[in-house]
Amino acid sequence: MADETRAARAPSGTHDVLWPESTRWESVVATFATQVEAAGYGLAHTPMFEDVRVFRRGIGEGSDVVGKEMYEFEDRGGRTLALRPEGTAPMVRAFVQHRPPLPWKAWYVTPAFRYERPQAGRYRQHHQLGVESLGTPDPDLDVEVISLADRFFRSLGLAAFTLGINSMGDQVCRPAYLELLRAYLADREDQLCPEHGGRLDANPLRVLDCKREGCRTASAHAPHLIDHLCGPCAAHFTRVCEGLVALGVPYAFDHRLVRGFDYYTRTTFEFASGALESAQNGIGGGGRYDGLVEMLGGPPTPGIGFGIGIERLLMACDAEGVLAVSPTPLDAFVVDVAGGGTARDLTAELRAAGLRADRSFDDRSLKSQMKAADRSGALVALIVGPDETAAGTVSLRPMRGRGDQRTVPRSQVAEAVREAVGR
Ligand SMILES: [Zn+2]
Ligand SMILES: [Zn+2]
Repeated sequence: MADETRAARAPSGTHDVLWPESTRWESVVATFATQVEAAGYGLAHTPMFEDVRVFRRGIGEGSDVVGKEMYEFEDRGGRTLALRPEGTAPMVRAFVQHRPPLPWKAWYVTPAFRYERPQAGRYRQHHQLGVESLGTPDPDLDVEVISLADRFFRSLGLAAFTLGINSMGDQVCRPAYLELLRAYLADREDQLCPEHGGRLDANPLRVLDCKREGCRTASAHAPHLIDHLCGPCAAHFTRVCEGLVALGVPYAFDHRLVRGFDYYTRTTFEFASGALESAQNGIGGGGRYDGLVEMLGGPPTPGIGFGIGIERLLMACDAEGVLAVSPTPLDAFVVDVAGGGTARDLTAELRAAGLRADRSFDDRSLKSQMKAADRSGALVALIVGPDETAAGTVSLRPMRGRGDQRTVPRSQVAEAVREAVGR
């Protein structure tokens, strides 16, 4: 393949979303926006790139995301920047910078960039929807956030998914639990996978999260953090569980659901699709990060949020056979074989009247324009020839087999189309 041809392909690990597939994206984002805005969340846009320190502090140097997968670069002014690998850290950075009144409830839709090995369901540019809510440690907020995600998935038609929840404890109770877990795993260190065998001192929680056989077996009966929570953390977790029951959100406790950094506290949760392969079945997740605002230079401010990967979500929809591509058809297609002036004016009038209308250009033949009208999926064709022009009329032809062609006065076309298409 010639180099010029290669340059005209999307980069490895990225993908184009064209119409009509893109109508599903519009529908996913619009549904999400409607639901979270009904709960008081407002849209926030932050830049596609940030000072790299936002992510080093906000996600953690030791994570794969920051250590191995970030698109990091120096700009022409010598600043070290990174394309956002996820949604939360930039939102918290924006909060620290602008200090909006609390509670601050925001939602976002954004591309996220990770240099991963491209494979099904993993992209170097993928897209996320999410919410962040800052300003209160109230466990009822955790319930609100989790139930918003649950309701969103259900409203798309998804049913075969599960919600796992856990508590990460806090700085009061977690250190003692980590010691306990470390001691437990130290006795089984020979079973651990090569990556985690020598690194128990760093973070034993990684073993719980590890998908490899050795770590799974060694930790199968490890002590659970929720059995070692301090009083306030235990009360928080109980209240969250009660709230999920009250709102009818099914969940299961999952002691492997851990996040490796100190600023994650208490509630952590993840939604998994039963219709996808287990290695890549996560369709969304999140948790509390009561220490993150401080890590990014703000005042102590509790927070919680979640992120949903749109590509993975659509894979789950495909696997369940829901949210099919169904673009809204055009109402009318204007076929003008009398010079194009009527097509020009009439499409503008119809659009101004709130109807979807299109036309052909280049003064094509009647046959060619009718073919275009058919291909467009329009519900009616509006045909204008010399006879119609002379009589001040338009011929309205239903395109989807309903009713006969009829003649409509030029001044009443919008009304007639509205009636014909039922809008
Ligand atoms: Zn492991
Ligand atoms: Zn605690």
